Amino acid sequence: MGVKITRIMKLFYGILASFILLSGTMTNAEAQTYKIYVQQIPQMWKKTFDQVLPNAFQYWKQKNPDVSFELTKYPDPSDFVIEWSSQFDESKTGHYSSDTENYYDKPKFTVPLAYLKAGKLKTVSPEFATEIAKHNLGHAMGLSHSDDPKDIMYPQIENYESWMKVNTKVSPKNTTGDWKPKAEKLQAQLGKKIDASEAKFSALIPSINSTWTTNKASEAEMKKAQNIIFVGRKLVSDAESFKVDGDDLLSQAKYSDAYYKYLDSMNRIKSLDAKITEIKKMFNKAISLESPK
Ligand SMILES: [Zn+2]
Repeated sequence: MGVKITRIMKLFYGILASFILLSGTMTNAEAQTYKIYVQQIPQMWKKTFDQVLPNAFQYWKQKNPDVSFELTKYPDPSDFVIEWSSQFDESKTGHYSSDTENYYDKPKFTVPLAYLKAGKLKTVSPEFATEIAKHNLGHAMGLSHSDDPKDIMYPQIENYESWMKVNTKVSPKNTTGDWKPKAEKLQAQLGKKIDASEAKFSALIPSINSTWTTNKASEAEMKKAQNIIFVGRKLVSDAESFKVDGDDLLSQAKYSDAYYKYLDSMNRIKSLDAKITEIKKMFNKAISLESPK
């Protein structure tokens, strides 16, 4: 009899435990709403960039349906603030900061919409602004950086200059011609090129990561070189995935699309070559700063 009661009790506690567990899970899955104050976007850029935030919000909602974003009328009730900027440099103005020592008394991040180049103000592409917004929303939601160059939280996005260079769209120069041999030729070149540049790049990494610096000047150079390695990894990853996309298009007989995908991939690899040269220069400078003659 006693045994039987214990069994029933066990069963009861078991059900109770799973109920608590379940309700716990339900609490965790409760909708998380982020309240955001968005600085008014300058009138002249409204049209170009009006989909940046809706697209960035949509991106995270698709990843996590329990997340939602609500815009507030004033900064005060918001969790964080999003600003737009008309200029940026290597100082990472876009980066999310939880520091509230600012005009709004709120954590904030900035989406750069334009930058100065040779004295002229140029707008960034809406795609770039959207990538920045997505990445920093991730930070605002508590995510840290990812090691995966395909992940939106990969830190490369902070290197605006490089991102801008590699993401300039190539517009088709002509719409006639026989695309099939053109695409196939580029495909063959690309295979070899990616392998060669990637090998050169990979060979550089161990020396950058294992060299010990003993003074500030040389350390600064090494840091720069290390930052460019992040960019390089992203370029390799993009080049490879565009090549795969190109192969896929080629197999579907979409020859001109394949050609331009391959061209995109080739541009990434050429950018990688430029980065390799930069890294080497910085590395050599760091070494010379280590042992001044
Ligand atoms: Zn970041």
